[in-house]
This record gives sequence, C-alpha cells and structure tokens, in this order.
Amino acid sequence: MREQQKIKTDSISFLPAGGEGGKRIAIFGSTGSIGTQALEVIAANPDKFSVEVLTANNNDDLLISQALRFNPNVVVIGDEKKYSKVKEALSSTDVKVFTGEKSLEEAAAMDCYDLMLAAIVGYAGLKPTLKAISNGKTIALANKETLVIAGDIMMRKAVENRVPVIPVDSEHSAIFQCLIGETRNRIEKIILTASGGPFLGRKPNYLLNVKREHALQHPNWTMGAKITIDSATLMNKGLEMIEAKWLFNLKPEQVQVVIHPQSIIHSMVQFEDGSIKAQMGLPDMKLPIQYALTFPKRIKNDYPRFDFKKVSTLTFEEPDVKTFRNLVLAREALYKGGNLPCVMNAANEIAVYAFLRNRINFLDMTDAIEKTMQRVPFIEKPTLEEYFESDGEARNFAADIIKL
Ligand code: NDP
Repeated sequence: MREQQKIKTDSISFLPAGGEGGKRIAIFGSTGSIGTQALEVIAANPDKFSVEVLTANNNDDLLISQALRFNPNVVVIGDEKKYSKVKEALSSTDVKVFTGEKSLEEAAAMDCYDLMLAAIVGYAGLKPTLKAISNGKTIALANKETLVIAGDIMMRKAVENRVPVIPVDSEHSAIFQCLIGETRNRIEKIILTASGGPFLGRKPNYLLNVKREHALQHPNWTMGAKITIDSATLMNKGLEMIEAKWLFNLKPEQVQVVIHPQSIIHSMVQFEDGSIKAQMGLPDMKLPIQYALTFPKRIKNDYPRFDFKKVSTLTFEEPDVKTFRNLVLAREALYKGGNLPCVMNAANEIAVYAFLRNRINFLDMTDAIEKTMQRVPFIEKPTLEEYFESDGEARNFAADIIKL
C-alpha cells in the first residue's frame, strides 16, 4: 500500500497574502454552475475575497454583468466574435478584456491572483490549470477532467511547485476533509458515493428511449449540462474514481463506489483498522466550494442544515454495472492507466455533446466510448504532448463512430 497524500493544514499556506481585499480569486469558468455559485460565496464574504479574473466561453452577457458587479482585474471571453461587445460594455471600467484560447493561459500566468478556481468544463480547462500550477498558484479544482486526462503530470507539477490542489468535487472534498489529521494513518480504501442519477434502477430497454430533457433532470444536484449527463450515465463516477486516484495517491483497488440515492454522505474513507470516516451534509455545492476557497478555515454561513428528523433512512447498494457499463470502462482505464483515461474522457466529451444535440441515443454514448478506447493506440507513459495527441485522435475516432 502506498502512502496517502499528506494533508497538513499547517503546511499549506492559508492566503490571504492579498492584503486588505482578502484572498485574490481567479474563476476560470465563472459563468457556469460552479462559477456562479462561487461568486455567491464570495459575494456573501466580501471582506475575505477579491475577484481578480473571470472567464467565460460564450456567455458574454453574464460575464459582463459579473465584471460590472465584482470589478476584476481581467476578463477573458473565449469566443472571439464576442470580444468587441464585452470590451465596449466594460469601457467605462478598468477591467482588461482579452479573448481567445491563448488568453486563458496568459490570464492563468498573471500575478494578480492567489487561487484559481478551475471551473471550466472538460479538456479546455487543462492548459490554463497547468499554467497556474507552474506559476505556483493554489488550485481549487472542480474540473475533474484535467486529472483524468493528465493526472500524473498535473500532480507531479503540483508537488514540484509546492502547489496545493484542493478538491471542489463534493466527493473528493469529503475525502479530503476525512483525511485531515490522518497523515500518519494508512488508507485501506475510499468509498465514493453516487446518487445513481435519474435512471437508478432502470434497465437498458428503458434507457434506449430516454431523451436529453429526461437525462438532464438530476434528482439531487443542479449542475452544468455535461456533468448532469455524466451523472445519468455514471461516467461521472468513473471520472471521479480516476480523479481520486491522483488526488490521494491511491492504488486502483483502493477506490470503491457505492450507490447512495439520498446524497447525504458525500464519501468515506476506511482506514487500515477498519474504521470508516464519512463527511455528510445536504447536497449543496456551495459548501465544498466555500471550503476550498477558505481552507484550512471553516467559515459561518446560512445554508440549510441537514435535519436527522426529516431523513430517517440512508440507503446503500451496489452499482448496476451491467446496465451502466461506463463504470466498467472507467475501471479499465483506472487500472490500465497510460493514455487510456485521456482517450476515454475525449470520447465521452464527444458522445455527451452528440447526445445533448439529439444526434445519438443514450446507450450509443457508451458504445462510442468503448470503441474509441479499443482503437486509439495505447501509450503506457505519455508525455504531455502525447496526451494532447491522444485526446485529438480519440475525438476524431469518436466523431467518426458517431458520424458527426
Ligand atoms: P458549466 O457547463 O455550467 O460551466 C462551464 C464553464 O466553462 C462556463 O463558464 C463556460 O463558459 C466555460 N467553458 C465551457 N467551454 C469552454 C471552453 N472551450 N473554453 C473556455 N471556457 C469554457 O459546467 P459546471 O460548472 O457544471 O462544471 C464545471 C466543472 O466542474 C466540470 O469539470 C464539472 O465536472 C465540475 N464539477 C461540477 C459540479 C457542479 O455541481 N456543477 C460538481 C462537481 C464538479 P460559457 O458559460 O460561456 O459557456
């Protein structure tokens, strides 16, 4: 058994170093579900944070209103066609406006912030996050895909640059919290809880006909479209298994998944003496976001509290891997490693967006991912460049299979 990640609250510098305005925050993906909730947390604690960087891809209107409200140093709008509108709208302010993919990396390299909330969805978040790590910025990581694509390189760079990577994903935040004060103790396994999504208990003949509107109805969480579909297919839990491996330096066999439909226990750690620690609470992403932004401190808030009198039963069951085969594919990627998780992630991104555009049915997503994983040549120890190439190759194969 390898040694677990060392989480010493006293060794991780608790910023602010940012002076009177508090900790200086850069939100990459500020217009998304995580980004907007993070801004709610910040707005409720104006003495603790200042907002320095905000980025969006297309949503110019929301980016403009966020910039007018939070007065950051820099905003980046990904879509170059929207640049003039954003620039014009912010012309009476000091906010610097940039556009294009390269600008995301340039903004990540700036000195004006202390902590990056990595909340871009998918592969697009990888390069800016790597840039921030190289520049010694603390990372609050929502974008799990970055660790799935190149977790070895990302965590190595984080160690080299003495950069804390604090999880935002509720499951990993739970594990992170359970490990506080346990640096000397060995983990037997971690148990990731999964709600099971909207199709818990359904069989393939039902799933064949489900539409995007139905798949977008998550029972417990309100999230962006891509992660909501990932939750419905259980790929989200597959991505999270790989995310956990890298964050907590685990062997594949130490990562277990259990279905827990109430989403009250956010995940658990079992230590070598058999004792299990769990972190609990209502399903509300503002809590792990706030914790990642204020770590190692906890701060007061007025979010609704869990009431044991109202929920009398917490249940647990095995995932149905015969129906939700993405978990099997993800487990294969977890065990085999190399470029396989990167290939799986790329194929999944293509498949999910095809499903969201009503181009393929629910079960076709898994078929496309499986075929792509079989086709892209395996590389055992890829370089960063080879990860980029594997991602591109997998996207092409998956698009070809789906006939996009
Ligand atoms: P959303 O789709 O709601 O938001 C994504 C954000 O990324 C938006 O700001 C979007 O800009 C931006 N973006 C999208 N594509 C690009 C691109 N090509 N280049 C630059 N920016 C881009 O996603 P979520 O907030 O739901 O999720 C974000 C990440 O956090 C994901 O990796 C997800 O897995 C993870 N996560 C999310 C949780 C949740 O509750 N939502 C929970 C745990 C993890 P625009 O709005 O302009 O399109």
